Amino acid sequence: MIQSVAFIGLGAMGYRMAAHLTKHFSTVLVWNRNFEKAEKHAAEYGTQAVTLNEAVQADIIFSCLPTSQDVELLMTELELKPGSVWVDCTSGVPASAKTLAAQLKLKNVDFLDAPVSGQTVGAENGTLTVMVGGDAAAFDKALPAMQTFGKLIKYVGESGAGFAVKAVNNMLMAVNLCSVAEGFTTLKAHGVNLNEALDCINASSGKSMVTETVLPQRILNRSFPLTFALPLLAKDTGIALDLIRDAKLSAPVIALTQSLIQAASDLSEKDSDFSTAVKMYESWSKITIE
Ligand code: NDP
Repeated sequence: MIQSVAFIGLGAMGYRMAAHLTKHFSTVLVWNRNFEKAEKHAAEYGTQAVTLNEAVQADIIFSCLPTSQDVELLMTELELKPGSVWVDCTSGVPASAKTLAAQLKLKNVDFLDAPVSGQTVGAENGTLTVMVGGDAAAFDKALPAMQTFGKLIKYVGESGAGFAVKAVNNMLMAVNLCSVAEGFTTLKAHGVNLNEALDCINASSGKSMVTETVLPQRILNRSFPLTFALPLLAKDTGIALDLIRDAKLSAPVIALTQSLIQAASDLSEKDSDFSTAVKMYESWSKITIE
């Protein structure tokens, strides 16, 4: 029986995800490094802003930080409650999930890697996809809490499997983003109207999430709203490439895409949305995708 839940990391995703927990749980503890965000969340949603040590006394503890390294650093020194489940919604590193799960098991705490997909709009609407690795019984225990912000919640295997699925998913999106930038600069170079071209492609076999939402809603209208930072996408493509190298596989498209996304991230201004990766192509070709 879950008495209390906690959410650590009230960023673009976490702030919205934690809000859904209050619909099903009377005790929702929140903590954020910049504590004003936790206090704002408490005022807005009726959660309780608490210290980090208080937060980790909950039955289910969620975290959503930029990287696995941030989660590992945060966990050192913490006294966790035996019998609790730590559900990490960070897009993290599979090897880190395996290590943390083994370390926490010694303290009778389960660790699930449970990254999410669906962007901030999915977090807002409670329609995220959650891909979960770790102990199957811990998954069952945490499921009611994950259901508050997730639509498809899938157990995908042992520790690290959730992070692996997420890294490959984001790599597929990145491959698509790069190829869309190349395809649409080519069309413009040939004098084709990009909005008309997009209508055709979105009714054809080349369509994707990038052509259906990212291109019309962020790139063609030149809005590039910051909801998912480009360095976070570069981190995810790096995790995918490391997985490929660990398996000693050859994956030239993925290796090239990682280099391109990393270069775009290195060249980007601070606080750039992932969609601004196309600006690198625009600077090469002197063609604007609009
Ligand atoms: P944000 O940068 O918006 O938020 C990061 C959060 O982590 C903030 O609450 C920040 O606190 C906190 N934080 C950062 N570093 C530390 C640290 N060292 N110790 C403690 N807290 C820390 O990131 P997002 O919410 O966008 O992303 C979070 C995770 O979710 C990432 O792994 C990302 O890849 C993934 N993700 C993001 C999506 C998106 O659309 N944005 C979609 C799906 C997954 P503070 O407020 O104090 O800075």
